Amino acid sequence: MYTEKIKADLLKKDPDQKEFLQAAFEIIDSLDPVFKRHPEYEKADLLSRLTEPERVIMFRVPWVDDNGKVRVNRAYRVEFNSAIGPFKGGLRFSPSVNLSVIKFLGFEQIFKNALTGLPMGGGKGGSDFDPHGKSDMEVMRFCQSFMSELYRHIGPFTDVPAGDIGVGAREIGYLFGQYKKITNEHSWALTGKGVAYGGSLGRKEATGYGLLYFLQAMLKDHGLDLAGKSAVISGSGNVAIYAAQKAKELGLKVIAMSDSGGYIKDENGIDVETVKMIKEVKRGRISEYVTHHPEAEYQKDPRGIWQVVCDIALPCATQNELAEADAKELIANGVIAVCEGANMPCTPDAQRLLLENGILYGPGKAANAGGVAVSGLEMSQNSLRLCWTFEEVDSRLKEIMENIYATTAKVAKDYGHKGDLIVGSNIAGFLKVAEAMMAQGIV
Ligand code: NDP
Repeated sequence: MYTEKIKADLLKKDPDQKEFLQAAFEIIDSLDPVFKRHPEYEKADLLSRLTEPERVIMFRVPWVDDNGKVRVNRAYRVEFNSAIGPFKGGLRFSPSVNLSVIKFLGFEQIFKNALTGLPMGGGKGGSDFDPHGKSDMEVMRFCQSFMSELYRHIGPFTDVPAGDIGVGAREIGYLFGQYKKITNEHSWALTGKGVAYGGSLGRKEATGYGLLYFLQAMLKDHGLDLAGKSAVISGSGNVAIYAAQKAKELGLKVIAMSDSGGYIKDENGIDVETVKMIKEVKRGRISEYVTHHPEAEYQKDPRGIWQVVCDIALPCATQNELAEADAKELIANGVIAVCEGANMPCTPDAQRLLLENGILYGPGKAANAGGVAVSGLEMSQNSLRLCWTFEEVDSRLKEIMENIYATTAKVAKDYGHKGDLIVGSNIAGFLKVAEAMMAQGIV
């Protein structure tokens, strides 16, 4: 079978890229019914072309730390697919970054961006630089050196990076400043910019808010709602914080959050303002929460968060953070829905178990598309040289997330997998990219 052959080819070509293979196999495994309906896609060998990035850039980033010591990091930009628009996807700064991780993220991004309905191709980049414990000046010097190479590969009509793990408002500011200086253009080659210099209101909140809009739509479709239910949210970064904020607004009580060191549990409901102060202002550890809220408890193992009894679990930290054993705990404790704010947070075994047990499951590709959707809206505002109000952006975001839910649910049903949004989102994203690739010939 065509899809099996493609998987065998990928395994042979890049046997060590385990994250990329995991992401690629998940998508490819959903596509058999599409190739049955569209034999022309196999003839055009769309999958061989889709699984090979259009371009991979790997470069060194030399910089000098506060002690005058020279440091060198490795960086990547994977420009995966530009069939439906300029390459678009975030930059990740984390010691865990390698080519496999960036390829997995870039590959997923192709389909996620297609689902938003906006004209954006897929890409991703980053470096094994660890911003933790670095001074602002060290981060600035790193970002300037990083952009001194990246600038020649990006641009508003070519490739438009944004933030991801370890790349927030501070890093985007430094990256943009250097891009502007080198190119002598105040052009829009990055999103997630500060509102003062071309950013969009609502971008910071977009992924977390979008996740809750998606979750709300999924629950509503099953005759359920959020009010009065409890949730745990892993992570306490950009996605997790604004997911927690919107959850509270919608009446969903968040009782646990985490960082890479451990998790906090507060049965009274996590105070999001305290988390923001610790993580956004002080760049501190989640363990500090208990000094402000002594009734809460802190546990050192971040993975223990999945043992907290809850109705809804929202993994919003990192890939493969929720494994089969964690899914078992959640199911035994009566979870009704798992919705992914992070990219690929559930392992394939965990996904399978959740679906087999009838848990409502929102895959990241669809459920966390709100961030890139508002990045797309930031690009629209930049092109128009206009700034929309927060309310306008937020209402477009909500509409986009509801559409993504409706489309993925419908496509899952049309292809004989009612309720399986993994299949629905993979096929829906693929169909749009396939149509564009077929129209453009073998390029
Ligand atoms: P941030 O860097 O802002 O936050 C990441 C958070 O996850 C931090 O709190 C970090 O803790 C925590 N973390 C890291 N590893 C673990 C772990 N093993 N267990 C528990 N917590 C952990 O990143 P974002 O919030 O931007 O991104 C989070 C996820 O969402 C990623 O998968 C990203 O790809 C995805 N995503 C992000 C989008 C965005 O718009 N930002 C858009 C779509 C998806 P610590 O402080 O200790 O490092």
